[in-house]
Amino acid sequence: MPEHTDAYDVVIVGLGPTGATLANLLGAAGRSVLVLEKEAGIFPLPRAIHFDGEVLRIFQAAGLREQVLAISRPGVQGMHFVNGAGETMLIRGGTAANGPHGCANNYYFHQPQLEAVLREGLSRFPGVKVQLRHELVGVEQGDAAATVTYRSMESGQAEVARARYVVGCDGARSPVRQAIGSGLVDLGLRQPWLVFDAVLEQPVDLPAYTVQYCDPRRPMTYCNVVGQRRRWEIMVLPDDDREALVQPDNLWKMVAAWVRPDQASLERAAIYTFQSVVADGWRDRRLFLAGDACHQTPPFLGQGMCAGIRDASNLAWKLDAVLAGRASDALLDTYESERKPHVRALIELAVRLGNIIQTTDPQLAAERDAKFQAGRPEIFELPPQLLGAGAFDPAVPELAGRPFPQPRLDDGRLLDELLGRRGAVIGSQQVLAAVSPATRQLWQRSAAVVIDQPDASLQDWLRANEASAVILRPDRYIVGVARSGADLDRISQFLSVGP
Ligand SMILES: Cc1cc2nc3c(=O)[nH]c(=O)nc-3n(C[C@H](O)[C@H](O)[C@H](O)COP(=O)(O)OP(=O)(O)OC[C@H]3O[C@@H](n4cnc5c(N)ncnc54)[C@H](O)[C@@H]3O)c2cc1C
Repeated sequence: MPEHTDAYDVVIVGLGPTGATLANLLGAAGRSVLVLEKEAGIFPLPRAIHFDGEVLRIFQAAGLREQVLAISRPGVQGMHFVNGAGETMLIRGGTAANGPHGCANNYYFHQPQLEAVLREGLSRFPGVKVQLRHELVGVEQGDAAATVTYRSMESGQAEVARARYVVGCDGARSPVRQAIGSGLVDLGLRQPWLVFDAVLEQPVDLPAYTVQYCDPRRPMTYCNVVGQRRRWEIMVLPDDDREALVQPDNLWKMVAAWVRPDQASLERAAIYTFQSVVADGWRDRRLFLAGDACHQTPPFLGQGMCAGIRDASNLAWKLDAVLAGRASDALLDTYESERKPHVRALIELAVRLGNIIQTTDPQLAAERDAKFQAGRPEIFELPPQLLGAGAFDPAVPELAGRPFPQPRLDDGRLLDELLGRRGAVIGSQQVLAAVSPATRQLWQRSAAVVIDQPDASLQDWLRANEASAVILRPDRYIVGVARSGADLDRISQFLSVGP
């Protein structure tokens, strides 16, 4: 029989990067959180090596920007596409310049190190309790709370916790997804790849940039990760004997053109089957899914974990607003409607890019190479960072529902340091003074910070976008832009949904 029943705002199942980010964001908001993780330590196999500028900004919101920067390097060198004859067909340049989020656009890192930083971050929050070696075994929903049953993997003892909401950040096999009964929609790519991570032990002449080897005999990718870490991703072919493939002798043979065993140590090698799926329901009343639990992408764009971190950021402020009574439960329905279209577009793009990189038909490969060499590459830009329908003004889709940039302010701070994890209303004193008392109350109720003497960089943004004011959500997405006082009254309605 269960020992006792504790009560929490949120139970998070799974302490991978998605669950750890969500726990940090909820902890920073002062929420009481129980995190269940069935493993004793951080998942040791090599996985993500890239995240983007928006993701660093989310870590910044969790108070971990400097800690994450200390274990990452900006991706300034770009990517080269090389054909089967070893000729460089195309170079996608990187940039050292800061992007819109107040940092570089891309970073490289080692996933276990990032997860360690996120876990350490949780120790700052007395309201966040982490239970390692504890496995979720059941979840039930009631009118006032969800009841979670979990089991210690040491003692076998079952325990029960109650929570207003439960978020399954429990990875590809997600028991919470199974409890919700959501099916997975397959977007068409399923392909095994061998991932080989090595640590250089002496200087080796290897490129600082990423290389896509578009060799139809064996497509491969080489990445300079961070520090002395290097990765080779090697497509598994139908005739390969998978057991033989991962034998150390064979592994070194496959990377012999770049590195020898006396120059580096093999850290990990594993075969992953890259998948492309999206769950068809991310919420059932008190239960939610986030991260790999509700979407999995082939890693050709380096965006799988990034998508999970964006889920955490989208969901965290909404859960906090509803738990604090600042918004009605209906706000939580906008989580899936906002996030799913973007994540689906990303996966579809990764599938298209994967199909180009994975070409093994010599004729098709020659046609692709000719396009690359003629400067007509079928390389796609990432889909715009635009939310699906939700908690923002749909009238100006070129601005609302997109991230607001993060300029450095005149006093040297980054914008988000001034705003904190709150919504914001930014405009001139004159425009903000023209709103109705009801709108002012709404700003107060949603705990938005009001900036009526915008810094030069914010004024520049308003001018460039012909706006007299802009409203931001706590996750830094634009709620709407106002071109008059009346407009500001109207778009303020989108600040919170209900009550
Ligand atoms: C080869 C490869 C390369 C990749 N490269 C990139 C990249 O460059 N950039 C990028 O953004 N992404 C990349 N990804 C994807 C990225 O690694 C994943 O998207 C990310 O790890 C998913 O995080 P998550 O927290 O959602 O799930 P997970 O990391 O899978 O965590 C889920 C956690 O839930 C726990 N759990 C499961 N069931 C239970 C239960 N019943 N009770 C308690 N706990 C439970 C698990 O133990 C696990 O710790 C790559 C993936 C691979 C395989």
